[in-house]
Amino acid sequence: MRKKIVAGNWKMNMNFDETKKLIKGIKKGTKKKVGKNTRVIIAPSFVNLQTALKRTKKSKIEVASQNMHQSKSGAFTGEISADMLTSLGLDLVILGHSERREYFGETDEILAKKVTTALENKLETIFCFGEVLEDRKSENHFNVVESQLKKGLFHLKKGDFSKIVLAYEPVWAIGTGETASPEQAQEMHAFIREIIAKEYGSEVAENISILYGGSVKPANAKEIFSKPDVDGGLIGGAALKADDFIAIIKSI
Ligand code: PEP
Repeated sequence: MRKKIVAGNWKMNMNFDETKKLIKGIKKGTKKKVGKNTRVIIAPSFVNLQTALKRTKKSKIEVASQNMHQSKSGAFTGEISADMLTSLGLDLVILGHSERREYFGETDEILAKKVTTALENKLETIFCFGEVLEDRKSENHFNVVESQLKKGLFHLKKGDFSKIVLAYEPVWAIGTGETASPEQAQEMHAFIREIIAKEYGSEVAENISILYGGSVKPANAKEIFSKPDVDGGLIGGAALKADDFIAIIKSI
């Protein structure tokens, strides 16, 4: 049975004290009531990863990095390597977030390299992708998503591909308050599973967790998560308030 996942992408929010406080709140709310098949993940900023790891040790919360560089090491001022992350005890990384693609020029080709580096370093990868509004309006969204998946991930062998978690995030729904309808999310998730089945077989497609991201909040989470091909969510804004994040986890 594929895992249900609720992951919080904190982006460039939460200083040291705020990080500790938010973790305390999420820990309290996830002590019981989280099903065995549900994973809870938080992705604080780089500088707070070590604290986050320490403070979530005896809890259901897993910690992910929001990004990493594709190279092993070297002259890349300001960047973080996979080895730096794993040496802290981290085993999860988010790659391909639309903000990384849009503001930091991360192309499909760069992301393909990042994914390879992450897996070589045993970092489970949450791979984000999704169309912009113009693609949706021109009904090109399926082509865009297929292309992002193929270019970013389909160089992987079956065994490695199975270690990926997918996060479909229509860019027009991220941080805008606008959400894809549960039907739109389901339609795209089913399409994604179909493409994966063609490339890697139906068993891989059935077992991969596909998260939806884009303005998920307590008020809409239950309906979105009720769709058969939606296995949870990648949450931005609503992950910054313990009560909201916990309410979303509980609606899985
Ligand atoms: C995100 O950053 O991945 C995201 C989905 O943000 P929000 O929930 O705020 O739309």
